[in-house]
Amino acid sequence: MRTIRLGKTGITVPQNAFGALPIQRVSEEEAVSLLRNAYDGGMRFFDTARAYSDSEIKVGKAFEGMREKVFISSNTQATTREKFEEDLNTTLTNLKTDYLDIYQLHCVARCYTEEDDIFQCLVDAKQQGKIRHIGITAHKIGVAEDIVKSGLYETLQFPFSYLASERDIALVNSCKEADMGFIAMKGLSGGLLTDSKACMAFMSQYDALPIWGIQRQSELDEWLSFFENEVTMTDDMKAVIEKDREELLGEFCRGCGYCMPCTADIMINQCARMSQMIRRAPSQNWLTDFWQKEMLKIDSCVECGICRTRCPYELDIPNLLKKNLKDYKEILAGKSV
Ligand code: SF4
Ligand code: SF4
Repeated sequence: MRTIRLGKTGITVPQNAFGALPIQRVSEEEAVSLLRNAYDGGMRFFDTARAYSDSEIKVGKAFEGMREKVFISSNTQATTREKFEEDLNTTLTNLKTDYLDIYQLHCVARCYTEEDDIFQCLVDAKQQGKIRHIGITAHKIGVAEDIVKSGLYETLQFPFSYLASERDIALVNSCKEADMGFIAMKGLSGGLLTDSKACMAFMSQYDALPIWGIQRQSELDEWLSFFENEVTMTDDMKAVIEKDREELLGEFCRGCGYCMPCTADIMINQCARMSQMIRRAPSQNWLTDFWQKEMLKIDSCVECGICRTRCPYELDIPNLLKKNLKDYKEILAGKSV
């Protein structure tokens, strides 16, 4: 397994890390077991966030008494000093620690600079020893490029998978040139990619630390198996990736949910990518009465446009939903597969 040095932070860990968003959805006992098994299997870097309900508490419980053996990053969505301090103190309490290895501004809409008090909050927290390194996460490529150019942050977290564009790959390379750590979120592109080996092979070509979102022991086992059997890019892997890229590239929804809630109660993060999900997972799961009702809600879209303003990928959501519904109805009618 390759190790990744996260730029000037000096943090050096195996290129196989744990994204702790999905452990919100399992019991504390299951989450703690998953996290400890991840550590026992070789993972050393764990990313959580104030916004992931009880994820930090679970991470704190799992690594109590062994804090210095792992690297932990967390995120805040704060935009004011008061909220920043409240979030950071809560995070440290939840994680049962007195420092974070990396503290990140979470999913920012623009690059915050020295002129913004929220950036100064990070600098102050670092001086106080509460955080060791300053990081940031973004979903929009233009914002991410501004962040790298600013030279103010030690790490950048950004979506990166084998559906990446040339511009995304250039971003990863520019982080390397700037000696900035690159943390790759959404390595499975929000569940659209299902071949973990191909995802790992792709990642192994870059100086990127993937934080795989893990909810089940079976998923963890797949990632841990790469410690034993190292994966590199081969012609077979390239063929899998090429096929998926042909099928999936273009206007596609990553399932992140940032566009929600919808005025018409449409489950956008599933319905806007139904055409892909239904062809990539057992289709029966998506043809149940429940999903038929959810898909039909698309007809009640009032075109308010709120979702469009929130989507970090600037998708034309109302039209994307309509296309998915049309396709879904054709599948139901047996006119399409
Ligand atoms: S435009 Fe349609 S899909 Fe988007 S929030 Fe409004 S009602 Fe929901
Ligand atoms: S439409 Fe955009 S914001 Fe909404 S789930 Fe998909 S990618 Fe995320």
